Amino acid sequence: MKNSSLELRHSRRTFVRNMTLGAAFIGSGAAGGLAAELAEATKGGERKLGVALMGLGLYSRGELAPAFKHSKLCRFAGVITGSRAKGVKWSHQHGFPERNIWSYDSLHEIAGNPDIDIVYVVTPNGLHAEHTVAAARAGKHVICEKPMANTVAECDEMMATCAKANVKLSIGYRLQFDPHHIELDRLAREKDFGALTRLSGEHSWNFTQRAWRIERKLSGGGPLMDVGIYVIQAACRAAMAQPLAIVARELPKTRPELFNEVEETIEWTMEFPGGVTCQASSSYSRDNNIFRAEGAKGWIELAPAYGYRGIEVRTSRGPLDIPAVPQQSLQMDDFASCILTGRETPVSGSMGRDHMAVIEAIYKSASQGGKRVLISGA
Ligand code: NAD
Repeated sequence: MKNSSLELRHSRRTFVRNMTLGAAFIGSGAAGGLAAELAEATKGGERKLGVALMGLGLYSRGELAPAFKHSKLCRFAGVITGSRAKGVKWSHQHGFPERNIWSYDSLHEIAGNPDIDIVYVVTPNGLHAEHTVAAARAGKHVICEKPMANTVAECDEMMATCAKANVKLSIGYRLQFDPHHIELDRLAREKDFGALTRLSGEHSWNFTQRAWRIERKLSGGGPLMDVGIYVIQAACRAAMAQPLAIVARELPKTRPELFNEVEETIEWTMEFPGGVTCQASSSYSRDNNIFRAEGAKGWIELAPAYGYRGIEVRTSRGPLDIPAVPQQSLQMDDFASCILTGRETPVSGSMGRDHMAVIEAIYKSASQGGKRVLISGA
C-alpha cells in the first residue's frame, strides 16, 4: 500500500535530518553512501517532492514549469486551473497524470493525494490568501507568489492557517537565491565598502492594457505591489533590517483612464535604523530596473537588477562577472530542502508580511500627502 503524502513527508524528514541534508546536498548531488541512504529511505516513493502549480498564467508557463527541468528536489506533479482542457494539455506536455488536475473549487480534494507535497500559488495577488489557506487546509505545504497578499491582515491569516495545519509556507522571492543579490548581502554584512547607508532603486515597466494587475480587488495596488516590492526586498537586504518609517507620494496620472483603480507611479523613501535611507520608485509608465547601495568606501549597482536572467553588477572596484542561475529551480529546491530537513525557509511568510507592512505604510503616506508613517511592528 502506498504511503500517504504526510507519512512520506515524515519518513523523508526524519531520514534526511539524520544525514544533515542541506545546501551542500542540493549543490553537489548525493554521492556514495549518501546516495545509497537516500535511495533506501525513499524506496517505493519518489525522491523529488511533487509540486502542483495553481494558476497557469504567464509566470507558470514561462518560468515555473520550465524550472522543474533544473530542479533536483521537485517534480511537476499536477495543476489547479479554471480550465480542465488546459490542465489536460499541460498534463500531456509535462508528463503528470490527468488525475492530478483540480479546479479552484475542488482544491480540497487534493488532501491525502500522495503525489502532491507542495501547492504553488501563482494566481492574482488578491486571491493569494484564499488559495494559500485552501491549500494549507488540504494539508499541503505552500509556496505563494509575491506579493504575499493584499493586506497584512491576510498575511496573518495565511501564516496562522499554515501553522495550524502544520505545513510550511514560503513566498516566491526568487532573488533571494540569485548570486548577484547574494553578493549584495555579503557586502552589507562584511562592509567592504563600509556600512551601506545610501540606497536607491526603481522597478518600473510600461503597462498598456486592462488586466487584473490594475483592478484593485485582484491586484491590491499598482506597480508597487507588482514590481516595486523588489526594491523593498533589495533595500531590506542591503540595510539588513526592516524600515522604521516611510514618506511617499503618488505622482499625477498621465493615463487616468487606464489607472483608475491603482497608482500609475509612486515614489517613496524608506528610513532604516542607523540613518540608512532608500529612495525608491515604481511606475507602470516607464521602464527602469536598478538598485544601488553606497557606503563611505564604495558602491555596488545592479542594473538590470531584478530580472530572471541578465542581472549585471558594477561596483566602485569594477564590474563583477557572476554567472546566472536558474532562480526558480533554486528557490523551489531550497523550499523542498526545508520541508525535508525541517529547516525554516529564508523566504518565509514573515518576510512576505514585513514587506506587506512596508507597502501598507507607503500607500498610507501617499494618501496622506506624504506624511511620515511609522511602520507598525518594526
Ligand atoms: P497571469 O495573469 O498571467 O496569470 C494568472 C493566472 O491566474 C491565470 O492562469 C488565470 O487564469 C488565473 N486566475 C485564477 N482566478 C483568476 C481571476 N479571478 N482573475 C484573473 N485570473 C485568474 O499572471 P502572472 O503574471 O502569471 O502572475 C501571477 C502571480 O505571480 C502574481 O501574483 C504575480 O505577482 C506573480 N508573479 C511573480 C513573478 C516572480 O518573478 N516571482 C513573476 C511574475 C508574476
